[in-house]
Amino acid sequence: MKDETLLMLPGPVPIPERVRAAMARQAINHRGAEFGDAYADIVRVLKQLFGTSGTPLVISGSGTAGMEAAVANFGKGRKMAHLINGKFGERMYMIGQRYASETRPIESEWGTPLDLERLTAVLEEGCEVVTMVHNETSAGILNPGAAIGKICREYDALFIMDGVTSIGGDTFRADEWGVDVAVVGSQKCLAAPAGLAAVAVSDRAWERAVENPPYYLDLPSYRKNAAKDPMETPYTPAVPLFLALREACLIIEEEGTEKRIARHHKMAHAVRKAVEAWGVGMFPRTDDLHQYSNTVTAACIPKNSNDKEFRGIVKKFSIQIAGGQDHLKDKIFRIGHMGAVSAPELLATIAATEFAIHKTGHTVNESGVMAAAEVLG
Ligand SMILES: *Cc1c(COP(=O)(O)O)cnc(C)c1O
Repeated sequence: MKDETLLMLPGPVPIPERVRAAMARQAINHRGAEFGDAYADIVRVLKQLFGTSGTPLVISGSGTAGMEAAVANFGKGRKMAHLINGKFGERMYMIGQRYASETRPIESEWGTPLDLERLTAVLEEGCEVVTMVHNETSAGILNPGAAIGKICREYDALFIMDGVTSIGGDTFRADEWGVDVAVVGSQKCLAAPAGLAAVAVSDRAWERAVENPPYYLDLPSYRKNAAKDPMETPYTPAVPLFLALREACLIIEEEGTEKRIARHHKMAHAVRKAVEAWGVGMFPRTDDLHQYSNTVTAACIPKNSNDKEFRGIVKKFSIQIAGGQDHLKDKIFRIGHMGAVSAPELLATIAATEFAIHKTGHTVNESGVMAAAEVLG
């Protein structure tokens, strides 16, 4: 019997055996060729996933460390605007409040489209830096990278984008979209252990780096050290995690970026078909620019049930799905389908979820398992 729980969460996600094995080893010097080679492999693959010709810099810290590095190095002492339609958009705003001279939250209900008109108005007032979460994990909505990038360029504002749950799982084109600072975390679509973040910075943003960055998250210093041969980081990095991330990146390279994204789209399509069959309702409200996430699906918990009961039933099968955060607790459930997942894990998850829907008294329109199987088979 397998003694592991299947994590179908929007991070952390299951870690492939090869990746786990890569970090179980003797210490190495982080100022030497072996470490430098691992960092170089990571950068080669991440450049593809970020869609940038720049060098993604790897920080020892979770995704939030990457968000804070972005805001602290490019927003400190400046007027910042924060697009918000979920928990991580709010987090960017809270980080902005620690560093910016002024902050303008541009709030929409969680899981509903961002307010582009209000963004334009705020930029007219002279905001210099804009933050957005590409894939808002808390609500399962994919926000428009290219459209917001275009608006930021029109007003010559720097554009910081949290790509933590899109980079490596969905299309991301930092250079083409005009993203000045993009952030990813290791434990989401990359299927690596938690604890590393990577930040890619445009040339335009480097020219505008603040004079007094924080000491530990000093990105110009990360840049200088990454330019060395062999590549280095300013201080001792989480070496085992770098070795694991390198292996995760090699797996991604073997699969190929396009194929990986197509696989994520197919998984998302299957889950959405299941939700449709169940008739419980998708949570996000989409429009021409805002789409359902391709890495995490948020749907409504049947009205007569609650989070504990609902997810408790799924958990009986050693499968963990996510609930709603903050005010969405007891309202939604979220199925993560990012990283290394494929049909076996997804079908088991959908079957367990369908059982929970039945057990909590909702009569499904059709079998979600059947609907998903049609897509996956
Ligand atoms: C998970 C996540 C983060 C980072 O969270 P950490 O717990 O610090 O890794 C940031 N943004 C989004 C959209 C996320 O899903």
